Amino acid sequence: MAGTSPPSKRPRIEFADLFVVNVGEASKPYRLPTKTFTMRSNFFKAALSSKWRTEDSAIDLKDVQIDHFETYVHCVICDEVDLIATPDTEAKTLAKLVDLYVLSDRMLDPETTNLVMDNLVRTVGESDYLPSDDLLSRIYRLATSGSPLRKLAVDWALHEWNEQPNDGKPEDNLPSELLTDLFREFRRLKNGNQNGKRTVDKVFALRADKRQKCCYHQHPEDSPKCK
Ligand SMILES: [Zn+2]
Repeated sequence: MAGTSPPSKRPRIEFADLFVVNVGEASKPYRLPTKTFTMRSNFFKAALSSKWRTEDSAIDLKDVQIDHFETYVHCVICDEVDLIATPDTEAKTLAKLVDLYVLSDRMLDPETTNLVMDNLVRTVGESDYLPSDDLLSRIYRLATSGSPLRKLAVDWALHEWNEQPNDGKPEDNLPSELLTDLFREFRRLKNGNQNGKRTVDKVFALRADKRQKCCYHQHPEDSPKCK
């Protein structure tokens, strides 16, 4: 019935003011609604308000892949991630989710990083798939130090890996920074459990999808935590 539907959670998209961003090596141009993207991304907000910018000049993102960018745009407009994993595509989808997280982080868009993070944690939590050493290496190669994505990689490796991986020596393939962080977290958990209040099984079996909702989220000081 007209007039009885609840108000939309998302602000209305305003097409009166658009900006152009050129993406990929081919500089594919996209015209996007300014208000929608500057509300969400501090990168676009800063780029579009720069005093060096001449009016209507395009923003260049030539080192960003077109498919990554289009997936990011879908997240901002629709507030959902359009990457769905099936048992056959799990590894590829997780790699794409990592790439999307890194792009959202570069766009200085914590809302989208949190959306992608929830998808990553849920995709692994709902399947029998164990994050591969390729995925953990990808995270360490692309995410910055201190990123929640790196924290997730450490927790996956420490809490969710099999005791005996298939090839027997996963550490041969892992970056040294990850091994250092793994050792540090292992020691922290072990020291925190010195009185043996919890069995080792419980200390090292805390799955990422069972942790508090905001455990791997980014929340700038002025934004509220998730309910
Ligand atoms: Zn949160």
